[in-house]
Amino acid sequence: MSEQPAPVQNPGLTAPAAPSPGPAASAPGPLPAGLAAALKRDPAGLVAAVVQQYDTNEVLMLGWMDDEALHRTMTTGRVTFYSRSRQEYWRKGDTSGHVQWVKSVALDCDGDALLVRVDQVGAACHTGTRTCFDGRELDISPVQAG
Ligand SMILES: [Zn+2]
Repeated sequence: MSEQPAPVQNPGLTAPAAPSPGPAASAPGPLPAGLAAALKRDPAGLVAAVVQQYDTNEVLMLGWMDDEALHRTMTTGRVTFYSRSRQEYWRKGDTSGHVQWVKSVALDCDGDALLVRVDQVGAACHTGTRTCFDGRELDISPVQAG
């Protein structure tokens, strides 16, 4: 073993920072690392969020969330979406009063959809119906088995 000390760089100075990866890779997001890694976002960075009434199991609506919207939904008690068209966050109920109180959030099997169970105040749909699907059934032609 050599007794020669390791070369000292910049004695008395702070060592230069290691080269950092790009901001996209290194910037800590708002979500826990495991969750952030598991999310499969679309090209716009969004994941579909199915919203369900927690006690009746009504499927209320579908919205879209990016990491920040999901973070806010998980930490504020209120469901927050990201609007593609307006390119802004919107918290359900701020203008309508039809608040969604978060009961639970689940990630689906392959990470590209969320199930947000809520207590919905009033109508979930902006048209005034309880759910976005009420009265909007399509005609289907199921094939009879046998
Ligand atoms: Zn609707």
